This record gives sequence, C-alpha cells and structure tokens, in this order.
Amino acid sequence: MDCIFCKIVNGDIPSARVYEDDDFIAILDIRPVNLGHTLLIPKKHFRNVLDTDVEIGSKIYPVLTKLCNAIKDALNCDGLNVIQNIEAAGGQEVFHSHIHIIPRYKDDGLRF
Ligand code: ADP
Repeated sequence: MDCIFCKIVNGDIPSARVYEDDDFIAILDIRPVNLGHTLLIPKKHFRNVLDTDVEIGSKIYPVLTKLCNAIKDALNCDGLNVIQNIEAAGGQEVFHSHIHIIPRYKDDGLRF
C-alpha cells in the first residue's frame, strides 16, 4: 500500500520521532500549526477512528495521556488540542489514522 505514514513507521521515510512503543509512534508534524505539533500514529494501518480495532483503540488513550503531559512539561504550554480529522469532509488528508496533539499558548490566536 502506498501510505506515507506506513513508510514513516517502517523507517523508509525519515521523521522526527519523539515516542515509540510496540503499537505506536509519535512524530513532529512536518507543517506544525504551533510549536510542538505532534502526531500520534498507530503502527498498524487503520484509515481513522472509524475502523480502528478495539485492541489498539483501548491502548491509545494511556499513550495520549503520557504524551500530552510530556509535551506540556517540555514546552510549558498553557493548553493543548487533541484532534482527529476524519474523512475528506472532516479535513483528513493522510488516510492512515493519526491524532494531532497541538500545544496551545495563551493568546496564540489559533482557531479550530
Ligand atoms: P490536515 O493536513 O488537514 O491536518 P490530516 O489530519 O490528514 O490533514 O493531517 C495530516 C498531517 O500529516 C498534516 O498535519 C501534515 O502536515 C502531516 N504530514 C504529512 N506528511 C508528513 C511527514 N512526512 N512527516 C510529518 N508530518 C507529515
């Protein structure tokens, strides 16, 4: 399958990997909307949350909690957005499931 995130998971395309375990990687987004914009990506290919299996789905929340806290501590941000764009109508452009973790800073002017 010609999937850019599968290639990143497999190491065929370079990325700035900030976290890895048996089931997930987290990388810095190549076009960050804010300092520290990170993508949490299951290694196994799913399209998005709609087809993610229960095993991976149940494992992702603890990882998300760990990453959000690590990012908040490292960057001293004031808040975060956790977002998944689902299908083209929802803004999804890469069809390998991923969760955006976007650090927010007081008065940073971003709007979603
Ligand atoms: P959107 O571009 O509307 O946010 P998605 O929710 O599908 O759509 O997000 C895809 C994300 O993947 C984008 O934020 C994009 O910058 C990021 N991205 C694409 N290619 C790479 C890459 N090679 N390395 C890191 N991030 C990437």
